[in-house]
Amino acid sequence: MSEDETVVAGNFVRQIIESDIEAGKHDGKVATRFPPEPNGYLHIGHAKSICLNFGIAMDYQGTCNLRFDDTNPHKENVEYIESIRQDVHWLGYDWGERLYYASNYFERLYEYAVELITAGKAYVCDLTADETREYRGTLTAAGKPSPFRERSVEENLDLLQRMRAGEFEDGARVLRAKIDMSSPNMNMRDPTLYRIRRGVIHHQTGESWCIYPMYDFTHPVSDALERITHSICTLEFADHRPLYDWILDNTSVPCHPQQIEFSRLNLEYTVMSKRKLTALVDEGCVEGWDDPRMPTIAGLRRRGFTPGSIREFCTRIGVSKSENTVQMGMLESCIREDLNVNSQRRMAVLHPLKVVITDYPEGQVEQLEVANHPQDESMGVRSIPFTGELYIDKNDFLETASKKFKRLVTGGEVRLRNAYVIRCNEVIKDAAGEIIELHCSYDPATLGANPEGRKVKGVIHWVSVEYGVEAEVRLYDRLFSQPVPDSAKEDKDYREYLNPDSLRTLTQSIVEPALAEANPGERFQFEREGYFCVDLHQPAGSPMIFNRTVTLRDSWAKIEEKQKA
Ligand code: ATP
Ligand code: MG
Repeated sequence: MSEDETVVAGNFVRQIIESDIEAGKHDGKVATRFPPEPNGYLHIGHAKSICLNFGIAMDYQGTCNLRFDDTNPHKENVEYIESIRQDVHWLGYDWGERLYYASNYFERLYEYAVELITAGKAYVCDLTADETREYRGTLTAAGKPSPFRERSVEENLDLLQRMRAGEFEDGARVLRAKIDMSSPNMNMRDPTLYRIRRGVIHHQTGESWCIYPMYDFTHPVSDALERITHSICTLEFADHRPLYDWILDNTSVPCHPQQIEFSRLNLEYTVMSKRKLTALVDEGCVEGWDDPRMPTIAGLRRRGFTPGSIREFCTRIGVSKSENTVQMGMLESCIREDLNVNSQRRMAVLHPLKVVITDYPEGQVEQLEVANHPQDESMGVRSIPFTGELYIDKNDFLETASKKFKRLVTGGEVRLRNAYVIRCNEVIKDAAGEIIELHCSYDPATLGANPEGRKVKGVIHWVSVEYGVEAEVRLYDRLFSQPVPDSAKEDKDYREYLNPDSLRTLTQSIVEPALAEANPGERFQFEREGYFCVDLHQPAGSPMIFNRTVTLRDSWAKIEEKQKA
């Protein structure tokens, strides 16, 4: 690794870990975890956390647990659990035997709650939600103690036991930590540890429980029980760290993990909150969680992103404590660079215009042998049938054009990629004046290359009419037309910024025959058009569907430059 790369790979979290190892803290061990709540699909922001946690475990001979933080059964389900497992694996990480659920610890958590009560550090509170809020005070005014704060240990133990037994209605009582109602940190003003949720069926524990521990209680205990050394989370938990430490310091948990916060990933032209992503799915703004416009891992996969390109992106954005919004162009250039090197080339005509080569021998078919990659010979060759009737793209022809237009014009010449030079002699139109066909002639001496002294600059792609394969091509673009659609400064709802052109579907496209054999998920460069992949959902009996992963060049960079100017 060069010095530069070391800098990129290093970050403040790794520095903390390295000095802990050096100091022999946690016996020099490193144990991290990735703790998603199964209430939605994972997104690119989660990928940042996954790469960080699993990456650290790999690099320091440590371990990384996958732990479902499943204390809120209301919004969680098994579909999300399955998708999260699949996505973490797909990204290239393996938790081995270390798959856990916070719900595995419900009994232990209960025991720790009893411990807190016994030590006079927790109490059952009967205030309503509104009263609790009122008693809590504000950032500038201290809270006041709940009238239930001084209940006896016996009464508290009895009430908690009866809460567990299902005697009280939702919201009737909660268990609270007894910390400090005048703390400047609101999280320390007797936070709730348990609440009642009767009648919900938990995806793991079924109907065993009707009280559920809060995140702030569950998380430190789960970390300690799994003997996590470094509990890495996002910045919004910094204010919760005193509570995290308080729970660990005031219970008999086996160890005290260290919470470290980093800034979450924000990405332009999309939203990252699970609540908002769920709304887009539920309201039908997108096709589903794996819609290729979604910033979800499932969406990116279906869009044609590779796991390596996402990991590379996570490396490039780095890890710090400062909030920022990353440009979409950065994610796109990671996949572009990957596919430029690793994807085979194919020809596909997205908007077909028929060309008849009037002097090409009737019925003749030439199988042209063509390299799959211009630089990488190891990718081999394929054959492409050349016939007297071809399709070219409508955008590659103009009846009259300036000299700058390097493609085909009436009376002009152009090279067909990997084949001959043709000249357009006649333009055929329908009654409405629409161009429906070009009549051309070809130069047999130009197969594959120009003979001495013959100059033809433009090169366009094509597909044989006889052998071409019909396809549907989906041109995906950014989901939102605004870089930060959910900015706090905006008074409009983020949904109002949905980009109406985020999907254009072309149903008349024709691709070269070699593509008929491609498998779902396979990725290609369609020459001159961009990078595409075979959609993962191929309805039986309908034409193949290709998704555009990314254009060949960053066309948004120009638009953005103009907008700024
Ligand atoms: P949301 O607030 O949208 O519901 P979340 O943070 O509650 O997201 P979790 O399932 O709890 O979602 O996240 C699992 C882990 O991924 C947490 O450690 C969280 O800090 C991290 N994470 C979530 N979003 C991001 C992000 N945008 N960037 C980096 N890490 C993230
Ligand atoms: Mg969360």
